[in-house]
Amino acid sequence: MREHTKVVRIGNVAIGGGNPVAIQSMCNTKTEDVASTVSQILRLERAGCEIIRVAVPTMEAAKALREIRSRIHIPLVADIHFDYRLAIAAMENGADKIRINPGNIGSSDRVRAVVETAKERNIPIRVGVNSGSLEKELLAKYGGVTAEGLVESALQKTAMIEDMGYDNLVISIKSSDVMMCVKAHELIASRTDYPLHVGITEAGTVASGNIKSAVGLGIILHEGIGDTIRVSLTGDPVEEIKSAKLILRTLGLRKGGIEVVSCPTCGRTRIDLIGLANQVESMVTEFDDLDGVKVAVMGCVVNGPGEAREADIGVAGGIGEGLLIKKGEAVRKVPEGELLSVLRGELEEMRRERRK
Ligand code: SF4
Repeated sequence: MREHTKVVRIGNVAIGGGNPVAIQSMCNTKTEDVASTVSQILRLERAGCEIIRVAVPTMEAAKALREIRSRIHIPLVADIHFDYRLAIAAMENGADKIRINPGNIGSSDRVRAVVETAKERNIPIRVGVNSGSLEKELLAKYGGVTAEGLVESALQKTAMIEDMGYDNLVISIKSSDVMMCVKAHELIASRTDYPLHVGITEAGTVASGNIKSAVGLGIILHEGIGDTIRVSLTGDPVEEIKSAKLILRTLGLRKGGIEVVSCPTCGRTRIDLIGLANQVESMVTEFDDLDGVKVAVMGCVVNGPGEAREADIGVAGGIGEGLLIKKGEAVRKVPEGELLSVLRGELEEMRRERRK
């Protein structure tokens, strides 16, 4: 379980051993394109990303890590497949962690060369297995891709690296089958104390990927398993960070930031509530310091004020206007076009009060 896993340090972020579950993402820029990669990482940092991974498919990408790392503020992880020389070059160029699948790195001599470099520099290795690359023997043994097979594959690989005298490791097991992924994590958590990187792979587009990730990560994290997470979405990686933060907050594993509640709208709604709720949700990301504040965006005055009572601040829509509500008390009417800026002004005021 989370408190019982080993602590692994990735640059300046510690995971495992009960440390907060770290949020990570992966760039979708070409790593060789330093300017675009750095700019995406800085955007991800502002959104709350704590560890960033980049693909290293070429030697040019491995060499670009040095420059990238000097311009960002969060640990940089190099994702390597097939070529052990890229893993070594990535570490020589400043990677804070590498992610490899020892199964596709080649002979054990090659894996050993990677492990030796990691050992010299004390760089953690994430040993990743996923359902798409399960070994033939395990597929035959378990009659296809199964949670047991994934776990056995991961444990075989960590044992191989342990035999080489290294245990600064993180394990990840990924499957796009959500319930298989849950089962695999339950199994591996009972059999190892290495920190676990948890994610649902190939989860899908923003809409379907969010649901699969919320269900899968929700169950796994709630069981006390998982030390760092990545929500994989086919979309802007910033969306992954927003989703990861929301999953952790919903489970009570993260504090901080404003919670927005909004009604589903119905035939009584007479303002553009859907538009307003979306604008409010992105506006409040600027107020992450207002820990525990709740903002309600409700469609009408029938249920709005009552439903907004639990919130610190809220609006209840009328016809072309909205009622501003503070701590359940109606304060004043505000024209529809000014609701967003009035809410922002109230949050700024709250911030000033807190800083006094
Ligand atoms: S708050 Fe009003 S508009 Fe929104 S769902 Fe409830 S009744 Fe409908």
